[in-house]
Amino acid sequence: MSDFLKKLSVRSPWLFRINAGSCNGCDVELATTAFIPRYDVERLGCRYCGSPRHADIVLITGPLTARVKDKVLRVWEEIPNPKITVAVGICAVTCGVFRDGYSIKGPIDRYLPVDVNVPGCPPRPQAIMEAVLIAKKLWMQKLGVEE
Ligand code: SF4
Repeated sequence: MSDFLKKLSVRSPWLFRINAGSCNGCDVELATTAFIPRYDVERLGCRYCGSPRHADIVLITGPLTARVKDKVLRVWEEIPNPKITVAVGICAVTCGVFRDGYSIKGPIDRYLPVDVNVPGCPPRPQAIMEAVLIAKKLWMQKLGVEE
């Protein structure tokens, strides 16, 4: 199969969001990339989906609290390979001001391989969009199709 046909045969990556104990600030910014026409992640050939089993790229917010840790890891396992993991917000990247808190188990890269980090508290929608583009490129490389 030619490279062009191989590229055409690849569907769009679907995005899934996991809240790992976020304050919701990062989730509001994620929502703007989904629902606000000014950003509109579907322009990048991606779309949000409601099930981890349909997802290709997972965006995780929050510092991974003890309360949700096992659930987050279980949902992440349900996402089929090849998958790309994006840590959204400084809480997901380093735990930020919550680091070493009694109820904090993160950062998430203690438990999961993180492919893309998006620092910021919360990160701007433009930074999230840029991370999605990088994640899409990595996902296509994992599938053996260069973008
Ligand atoms: S990075 Fe900031 S906005 Fe995002 S979950 Fe942490 S405290 Fe909230």
